[in-house]
Amino acid sequence: MTHGEHPINQPRGVDLLVRDAELVATMGASGEISGGWVSVTDGFVSGVGPRGDEPEANRTISARGCVVTPGFVNTHHHIYQNLTRAFRPATKSNLFGWLTTLYPRWAMLDEEASYLSAWVGLAELALGGCTTTTDHLYVHPHTGGDVLGAEITAAQELGMRFHPTRGSMSLSQKDGGLPPDSVCQSDDEILRESEDAVARHHDRSYGAMVKIALAPCSPFSVSPSLMRQSAELAERLDVRLHTHLAEDADEDTYCLATYGRRPIDHFEDVGWMSDRAWVAHCIYPNPSEVTRLGAAGVGVAHCPSSNLMIGGGLAPIAELRRAGAPVGLGCDGSSSTDSASLWLEARMALLLGRLRGGPESTEARDALEIATLGGAACLGRTGEIGVLDPGAVGDLVCWPMDGIAFAGAWSDPVEALLRCGPVRAKHTIVAGKSVVEDGEIRASGLDDIMARHRVASRRLQGLDD
Ligand SMILES: [Zn+2]
Repeated sequence: MTHGEHPINQPRGVDLLVRDAELVATMGASGEISGGWVSVTDGFVSGVGPRGDEPEANRTISARGCVVTPGFVNTHHHIYQNLTRAFRPATKSNLFGWLTTLYPRWAMLDEEASYLSAWVGLAELALGGCTTTTDHLYVHPHTGGDVLGAEITAAQELGMRFHPTRGSMSLSQKDGGLPPDSVCQSDDEILRESEDAVARHHDRSYGAMVKIALAPCSPFSVSPSLMRQSAELAERLDVRLHTHLAEDADEDTYCLATYGRRPIDHFEDVGWMSDRAWVAHCIYPNPSEVTRLGAAGVGVAHCPSSNLMIGGGLAPIAELRRAGAPVGLGCDGSSSTDSASLWLEARMALLLGRLRGGPESTEARDALEIATLGGAACLGRTGEIGVLDPGAVGDLVCWPMDGIAFAGAWSDPVEALLRCGPVRAKHTIVAGKSVVEDGEIRASGLDDIMARHRVASRRLQGLDD
């Protein structure tokens, strides 16, 4: 600026420049750029490029020694379950035993507990490199208040991009379902509150920070009529659909005994076999069911750690992707995996893919695609999230590749990112703003939230404070 010239007349720099990365893996048109940079303006990527080509910026972050990727997308979670992590009475249970042990605990969920668990859970996700997360909140206790609104407040305080789903359970024990009456609602109540949640929170604009989807819980906790009406409502409101599908062998038995058909036939019969839906787990589809899911474009949230922890088995991920199903990554509920790092899930997806298909079947880049592009496709936001092309949202992660764990990893930073480690995000940026900076949560109040989370979680577990 020459003397006397007013700054307003200067060409405006970009808002944020992340520069000098070891490598930028854009997952988009620019591929991988050694020594690259990313710029963000007004919350969106405004440029990417090689060293020497950087624009002027109002704020600069050094990514020296880091691989930069799009923020990871979490396609399946039950955040409130961090209130019952590693709950001893359920640690030896199968899925149905685990659920029936925990339902009475979760029946104590209220607005305060939902807010606290979301704050803690979203902060944990940000530290693990996640910038967009879904949440499948299917417990709406009769006296719990607005548990969905409470978790959206937490996401806004932290600055995370959030896709909470309006989950539901309507088939209680008295109707032959698994959950107790106190956490179930009638079909009419669920549909009314689902429509209300979309009206209040769902943002249809490009770059939206909050979107709602409809999410009846599973074939064994909601009626076929609710599944059908939810699909119709989602069509009318133009929102997405989410549920659990083919998670457990018991589910095959239950569906055959109750509906006279396998879970995926049931899913199709109630009107869900479309690219509006994405489903969690999908461990047990047979080969012809894989073909049908892929042809319909049904998305799959792959939950590697959760599937292992519950002893569920190996989901046919490579087959589903080949058949055309978008596959994203999910950390799943905090009390089935008890951890919520998408870096860890991406590594687990890499390991499980190789265990199932051999070492040539799956590379780190496949797992990285699942964590970013696949997640974006599951949420109907291809080209908008999960990629660092100009025009996409400014959500990115700087992964530190230094120190003992990375010593000697010279030849392929992307393979090193998932093979070495463990790694936590150094910087997690959402819409151009830091949620994690130098490995720490930026939002204020973490100590207070942790103290209150302790009280709420001990209350749910029936422990003295
Ligand atoms: Zn789940």
